[in-house]
Amino acid sequence: MTITETEAWTAQRVKAVDKEYVIHSWSVQGALDPIPVAGGSGSWFWDYDGRKYLDFQSQLVNLNLGHQHPRLVEAIRAQAADLCYIGPGFAERSRAELAEMIAGLTPGDLKMSFFTTGGAAANENAVRLARHVTGRHKIVARYRSYHGATAGAMSLTGDPRRWAAEPGISGVVRMLDPYTYRCPAGHPDPCPVCSGGPHLEEILQYENPETVAAVIVEPVTGTNGLLYPPDGYLQSLREVCDRHGILLIFDEVMAGFGRTGEWFACNHWNVVPDILITAKGLNSGYVPLGAMTVSARISEWLKDNMFWGGMTYAGHPLACASGVASLRIMEDEGVVENSRAMGERLGAGLAALAERHPSIGDIRGRGLFYGVELVKHRGTREPLVPFNAKGAAAAPVSRLLKAAMERGVYLTANFNVLRLTPPLVINSGEIDLALGVLDEVLSLADDHYQ
Ligand code: PLP
Repeated sequence: MTITETEAWTAQRVKAVDKEYVIHSWSVQGALDPIPVAGGSGSWFWDYDGRKYLDFQSQLVNLNLGHQHPRLVEAIRAQAADLCYIGPGFAERSRAELAEMIAGLTPGDLKMSFFTTGGAAANENAVRLARHVTGRHKIVARYRSYHGATAGAMSLTGDPRRWAAEPGISGVVRMLDPYTYRCPAGHPDPCPVCSGGPHLEEILQYENPETVAAVIVEPVTGTNGLLYPPDGYLQSLREVCDRHGILLIFDEVMAGFGRTGEWFACNHWNVVPDILITAKGLNSGYVPLGAMTVSARISEWLKDNMFWGGMTYAGHPLACASGVASLRIMEDEGVVENSRAMGERLGAGLAALAERHPSIGDIRGRGLFYGVELVKHRGTREPLVPFNAKGAAAAPVSRLLKAAMERGVYLTANFNVLRLTPPLVINSGEIDLALGVLDEVLSLADDHYQ
């Protein structure tokens, strides 16, 4: 083996070397056929033959400012020229500036931040800190949730990817989700599960509330079906947590920083958590970054108590500088406003598609965070593919996604829910283009309508 470069990196070579040496996430490696990507700009990326794809996913719902935003690229370049790395024990400008900006943007009295390399690591730290602050050990998490792939975060996660990591960490207790389209309690009015507090209260009574350190929820569930809570739900969790001295953790790794048309999803309901977890949209993922931001009360607690957490790359200057630049771009370019306006256009377009496509059972969304749930029948609500289907998008959903890709629109799905999460900088022409392609490919779902 030589490290001297002799051969050109053609698409074929990238693909062949990738196949031989790279382990891809959540996949049977031999079944993969990834497209070699050569570049991207804005809402688009392209392959080595110049074939362009509209990124209606923002990759892993992180590329909120789109591909290769020039100001963001330049900020990373400038920080790299100044100081690529300094350990977490030193004070560093981009780190300080980003933490101050987050304190200014987040709701309520959220104040100090600990920076990580992504969402899972931030959730891990939140759980450990909550245990230390309260002196309790149990954590209540929900079934339809994804909190990351490290041991603790995967134990918090409810979705079936957890099964391969079990038994996981101890002390995680689970509650049901406010999935109003498929109410787990069978649609009673009022529903204890969909209203939040009564269901949580009952679980706490079985578990002993004095052993529970925290409740962790995604205010809007991302990966597991784009679920929006009914009004009053988060408020109700807040009240129950306050009554029992339990910390409320909001995981806004996917929903935070403009995705739902507000800076933070919890702003829609004016509920403030004790700990807010963010990543992805914080810097569009140009450099790995996550953040755990804690209330003024926990910030005070940290002044006299040890913070038992740390990583070599905690508060990495390149990541923090990209965060600072990203938040400035969002303000300067009205990115949250664009998310709201384009979301309205997308929502109206989807409602029109539902008139023509019976397989659309439910449309859920705000901002550019939309889920379209596909069913075999609107009356029975039988899902187009079962929830425990192997792979994230079993046929016929995978056929639909493939057809969209062949037409130049990159989409993904979670079981029977299409995830529509384009970059927050997308324009109306691009939204209309995606709606046109959806109109064509949804016939593949309609074919299974009974
Ligand atoms: N939390 C939520 C809500 C997420 O959507 C994700 C990733 O998709 C994570 C946590 C994990 O973040 P990361 O992959 O950066 O560890």
